[in-house]
Order: sequence, then C-alpha cells, then structure tokens
Amino acid sequence: MFNRLRYARISTKITCFYASVLLLVLILTSVLTGLGVYFSFYHQAEVEIEISMNHVLERMRQGRPMGDSFWRDDPVMPGVVLRITDLSGQVVYENDARYPSLQRIEGSSVKNPPFWANKNMQVAEVRNMTIYHAKMDVEYQGQIYQLHFFKTITAEKHFLETLQKILFLMTILGFLLALLAGYFVSKRILLPIREMTATARKIEVEKMDRRITVPPARDELSELADTFNHMLERLEIGFKQQQRFVSDASHELRTPVTVILGYSDLLSRWGRSDKEVLDEGISSIRSEAEDMQQLIEKLLFLARADQKRQVLHKERIELSELVEDVMRKMKLVTKTHSVDLLQNDEGVIYADQVTMRQMMRIFLENSVKYTPQGGHITARARRLPDGGHIMLELADDGIGIAKEDQQRVFERFYRVDASRTKADGGVSGTGLGLSIASWICEQHGIEISMESALGKGTKMLLKIPLAGEKPPAERKD
Ligand code: ADP
Repeated sequence: MFNRLRYARISTKITCFYASVLLLVLILTSVLTGLGVYFSFYHQAEVEIEISMNHVLERMRQGRPMGDSFWRDDPVMPGVVLRITDLSGQVVYENDARYPSLQRIEGSSVKNPPFWANKNMQVAEVRNMTIYHAKMDVEYQGQIYQLHFFKTITAEKHFLETLQKILFLMTILGFLLALLAGYFVSKRILLPIREMTATARKIEVEKMDRRITVPPARDELSELADTFNHMLERLEIGFKQQQRFVSDASHELRTPVTVILGYSDLLSRWGRSDKEVLDEGISSIRSEAEDMQQLIEKLLFLARADQKRQVLHKERIELSELVEDVMRKMKLVTKTHSVDLLQNDEGVIYADQVTMRQMMRIFLENSVKYTPQGGHITARARRLPDGGHIMLELADDGIGIAKEDQQRVFERFYRVDASRTKADGGVSGTGLGLSIASWICEQHGIEISMESALGKGTKMLLKIPLAGEKPPAERKD
C-alpha cells in the first residue's frame, strides 16, 4: 500500500496525507472527550462520597445519638446513598430503601475497574448504572458498624454509549469528507501542472513556438510556468541560431568547393595541353582552398567559443608593446595603403596575447579590405582621463558602413555587400571576422563603439580596461 502510494499522483498523496492527519486528530479528540466525560463523572462521585463520609464520621465521633439530631442538615450529599449495617449484615439504617440491595451491588462488583477509578472504592455495574461503592468499619457507642456509601456514576449509560457512537461516526465522516475535499481541492490546485505537462508533451523541435498558459494567480505555479516559458524562449532562440549557423556555414563552404570542382574539371580537360590554364587552375584552387581553410578556422573558433572551450591564457601585458608589434607587422605586409601608429600610450592590461592580436588584426585587415588603394589606416592608443582605460582607435578612410548596417556587421555571416564576391571584383569575406572580434572583446571587458559614414571611412573605438595592482578574478563563463 505504502509502496503504491509512493508512485501515486501528488494530488492523491496530498489527499491521503491530510486525511490521515485529520483522522488522527479526530480519533484523539474523540478519545479525549470520552475519557474526559468518564473522568469527570467518576471524580465528582468520588468527591461527593468523601464529603458525605467525613460528615457522617464527624457526627459519629461526636457521639451524637442516631436520632433526629444526627440526621438534621442531612450529612449525606444529595444523590449519595448511605446504608449502615451491623456485624451480622443487618441493615440498621438506609436513606434510600429503593436503592439496589447490598448483596446485589457487591455481587455485581467489577473486577477490573477503569484506571481512573479510586482504588479505595469499588465499582459495580447494576442494570444500566455504574455505581461507586465505598465501605468502612466504625465503632459507634461500643458496637462495630459497617458504613456503605453508594453513588451512581453514570445513570445514563445510554447517553454515554450514544456519545461514543456519535464520536465514532463523526470521525469516520470527517475522514471521508477530508478525503473527498482533498481530492477535489488538490485536483483543482494542480490543474495548471497538468496543463503544463500536456503543453510540454506537444512541444517538439519543429514546434518550439508553443508556450504554456500562465495561470492568472501570482503563485508558485505561475512562476514555474513563466520560468518554463523563458527556458523555451531561450532554447528556441539558441536552436534557431544553431540552425542558421549550420545553413550559413554550409552555404559559405559550397562556393569555394564549387569553384574548386570547376577548376579541376577545367584542368582535367585542358590542363595537360595548355600551360596557362594549368597555372591559373592551380593558383585559383590554392586561393579557394586557403579561403576555405580560413573559414573553417573561424568556424572552429566560434564553435569553441559557443561551447566555452576556447582557451584564454590571460596575463599582465604591456598594451603599447602589443600595439606597436601588430602595427609594425601590418605595415610590413600592406603595400597598397599607408599604415601609421599616431599615438601609443603605455598601460598594463590583463589579457590573452594571442586573441588580442587576432582581434586587432581583424579590424585592421577589414580596414585594408574596405579602403580603396592608397587609403590611410591609422591607430591611436590614448589613456583616458578616468585612469582606468586606454582608448584604442583603429581608423580608415575607406567606403564606410551605412548607419542601418552598423549594428548588424557584428552578426555572424553578415556582410554589407554579400553579393559582391572576389570573382566579380569584390573582396573576399565570410562575415565572421567581426563576430570573432566582438567575442574576444567581450571576454576582455572591452567596449566596442563605431563611428562610420558612407564614403568617409570607419573608426573602431575600443575601450580597454587597464589591469589593477592585482590581476582581476577570472571570468567563470
Ligand atoms: P568579412 O569577412 O566580410 O569582412 P566581417 O565580420 O569582418 O566579415 O565584417 C562584416 C562586414 O562589415 C563586412 O562584410 C563589411 O561589409 C563590413 N565592414 C567591416 N569592417 C569594415 C570597414 N572597416 N569599412 C567598411 N566596411 C566594413
């Protein structure tokens, strides 16, 4: 039974628990009420017998003759019966002749009186009555007499039996009512949970837009429904992002593969005889393969970042040295544009060297890509008056980014002019560079802002926090 209850519904468990508690309380109250009634009856009878006994003994001790003066102001309490017998058992006096005879009462003595009965008295059951019987021997005017005091404890045995029955019935009825009420109330309270379960069952990967109806009452259940809906929201967004990422990535990979296949066809047909076709084919295949390799590297970087597996080895580094080095190498490889470091304030930062270089290169290479030949690319690192940051500005005087595109360029695979490819005179790109750069900045607490206008150029402003005396605590995520 208990094992079955373990696997029962919560509503059944709650109902059973509360009904059992109520049953226990009802049983306890009934038993206590019954005992209380009995105890007060016995106790009252006991007290009345004791008072009567004392009065009679007092008068005997005074040696009053057993005439009218003895019985004046009745020494026996009302309801108490006194019977005096001599040594032969003959009744010498009794104040109620109709009371059951001494033999009958003594013959009906209860062997095991209730524990609350006075041990010095006897309890007898005669007809419907329970009688207390106290006796004592006294010497009075040279003779030995036996005094018998009786008091009816429960004349109405019927009443007590009825009381017991009523209490028993009430207990059973209360228990059943509690079961019934508990069943309906808990069913009603837990209804929203059933609804949630039903909705949750219907939610599948293809139908992630379903939501649970939030109950109007602001209680634990509505909180649960809200939390559940938020979780679904996040899952749906994450799932859609993932789907888009996979389809965008496949799309990006398809172009170079198609180009490589095209050239290999060309080579297999004409490559052996035509040296020009051979050279062009090989160099194009190589260039596409390099692009593909870069794309795969970027995809892997983002996948590692998403899975929080991208390792960063942060240490205290001198930012000016890093900027100087990156700019020097950039100047070395860029023949088509001028590259200048205008200002390079010193400052120690707590960062990962490798990704910081990668981030700066992404911005600088974009500047080269999106600035016509002969354009100017500049860098300026200046310490901000707040003393805690260095503002690194990477600027170009290239094509610029339209206002409506400025936020979107940080999205994965977003390219302002995606239709233009390397083949038709555009620049090669994947639309992943800025998302990688913004992830790196985020990991270093760097704020990115942008000033750009179409045809005028673009300036990326990176607000880099300086390291304090102690290295800041590692971010957990
Ligand atoms: P991509 O590989 O296409 O360069 P990015 O994520 O680095 O990808 O950049 C996204 C888009 O933002 C680019 O396609 C380009 O249109 C625009 N963009 C980035 N940097 C610049 C810049 N310095 N000047 C003009 N446009 C830029």
